[in-house]
Amino acid sequence: MGEAVARFKMIREGDRVAVGLSGGKDSVTLLEALLLLQKRAPIHFTVCAFTVEQGKFLRPIAPFGEYLKSRGVDWTYKTDAPSLRLIDEVPDHGCDMCSRFRRRAVYEIARGLGANVIAFGHTADDFCESFLRNAMFTGRISALPAVTYSRKKDFRLIRPLVYVNEQITTEYAASLGAPVIPCGCSQKTGTVRRTLRDIFKDLEKEHPHIQTSILSALGNIQPQRLLDTRYLDLEAGEEQESSSELFPVLTAALTES
Ligand code: SF4
Repeated sequence: MGEAVARFKMIREGDRVAVGLSGGKDSVTLLEALLLLQKRAPIHFTVCAFTVEQGKFLRPIAPFGEYLKSRGVDWTYKTDAPSLRLIDEVPDHGCDMCSRFRRRAVYEIARGLGANVIAFGHTADDFCESFLRNAMFTGRISALPAVTYSRKKDFRLIRPLVYVNEQITTEYAASLGAPVIPCGCSQKTGTVRRTLRDIFKDLEKEHPHIQTSILSALGNIQPQRLLDTRYLDLEAGEEQESSSELFPVLTAALTES
């Protein structure tokens, strides 16, 4: 995580980082890792945490709150009423709508916490999966941004676990004894996400470094070998062509003189 934080300049002097806790192993790992980093980093920053209740937790959140209290974490837990209404009114809403609701709630909470940075627990698995999903289903070469800004630029949004895979977060969260509160959606089958995860799992049996390789590919783009004309120097050939067309004319002119 430290490598990612430094490489993408995720955290800077004086930042107040609000960690989005989903109740899962990834975000709790992120929180603990940031608390460790806070002690060791040469810069000063503060960390707080929050959870948005969207009505999807399968177990009571209380044990999670107790765990955080025992760790001395400054945690805010907020029920998002519009999300609960959404579940009632549009029960089969998709992820797009759900995340739009969550994003609004997240910004509101982070603002209330006085944070200028919001940290999300997306892992290396999520980056690889979103890269494949975009390429295979939306016709785009893109993954998740490791660092980006909210539309109004009031928050830096960071994903420090970009190089940390879920095998590590699973083991780390278990070693902490952190209670994991599953979300109803994590149990869904037949989703693109689940299919891609299964494909990865299958491929990794024979090629254990696939994920590492995709991650390095994301940081090693060769646009001239892709088909996006915005990144191709299509004029270069013309220059050469026109000079090669001119060459015989010039030679003839010189010979005549
Ligand atoms: S997986 Fe569930 S909680 Fe996550 S964005 Fe989709 S609908 Fe919302």
